[in-house]
Amino acid sequence: MTEDVPVRIRPAIAALPPYKQGKQAEPGTFKLSSNENPYEPLPSVVESLRETVGVNRYPDASASRLRHRLAERFGVLPDEVHIGAGSVAILSQLMLAASGPGDEVVYAWRSFEAYPGLVLIAGATPVEVPLTPDARHDLDAMAAAVTERTRAIIVCSPNNPTGPIVTQAEFEAFLDKVPADLLVILDEAYAEFVTDPDAVDGLIKLGRADHPNVVVLRTFSKAFGLAGLRVGYAIGHRRILDAARSTAVPLSVTAQSEEAALASLDAEAELLARVHVIAERRDRLAAGLRAQGWRVPTAQGNFVWLATRDETMDAAARFEAGGCIVRPFAGDGIRVSVGEEESVEKILQIATSIVEALP
Ligand code: PMP
Repeated sequence: MTEDVPVRIRPAIAALPPYKQGKQAEPGTFKLSSNENPYEPLPSVVESLRETVGVNRYPDASASRLRHRLAERFGVLPDEVHIGAGSVAILSQLMLAASGPGDEVVYAWRSFEAYPGLVLIAGATPVEVPLTPDARHDLDAMAAAVTERTRAIIVCSPNNPTGPIVTQAEFEAFLDKVPADLLVILDEAYAEFVTDPDAVDGLIKLGRADHPNVVVLRTFSKAFGLAGLRVGYAIGHRRILDAARSTAVPLSVTAQSEEAALASLDAEAELLARVHVIAERRDRLAAGLRAQGWRVPTAQGNFVWLATRDETMDAAARFEAGGCIVRPFAGDGIRVSVGEEESVEKILQIATSIVEALP
């Protein structure tokens, strides 16, 4: 095979590395690199997969049973719900729908790794607004970064990978500052883990009629433990979601994913009890790390952030050698997912030896 091929790839894509996933699990290690739910799926959820119609048939393209169910759950119309193969698929659809060459998309940085790639794939330009020193969104700076070329803003609360939330008051003040015709995506992938009563809640606290430009993203991957099945949803104005439906790869939400999501909603109370355990475990982990001298930012998702800076790759190697696979962001920090109960003590043991060795 020759080294080169004469096929033309869009330059922005040729320069774009593929999405980099956290390391996979190895036997005998705790996999704390992808903010997954450590619990096994509920038997009722597994059973729902068995009962799903044959795989020789295509799924219902709009996942209408799940849309109706979520609409009922959140008091919106079914057309104000859109289902995707993970919320990341919906993010991609919204980027393609709202932005293209010459347009800008504003988001905080550091935040979810997929944002820059999805903006570049749409042909638009990412505008990254640094987090505050305590790892929070700087919403004033984000509003100030809006130009006449801005087509969308992404706000991530709790912020992956650093952990803090945006408050409801901050978010509403921010909405008052940005143009009403600008798409604002509120990415609440970790909403169910939030325990701060002041946190933004795009579905319960936000007056949607007053803010039709806001689309809220949620997922079954984290709190509901269905990461492997790929199912997430958006709630927002029908016109915006119709545009996302138009840019979607058709038929990518499987019947199995839809069925498992429905079964998860049937078992919501039980699943949220698990979320409660994970949130409590997170608070213990963060408190234990702070007691060792780490400056852990407020942690409201199912993960904590260690600002290891130049020592990041060495520190991640030490966690790995100790049996914990974590997610390093070179030169910046390490994100540790809240996993099995036994992983908490393990992380604390390794972390104490690292903090002692830090300059
Ligand atoms: N948003 C954020 C902030 C995330 O961290 C993730 C997953 N890591 C997603 C969206 C996408 O999740 P999914 O596609 O599994 O719904």
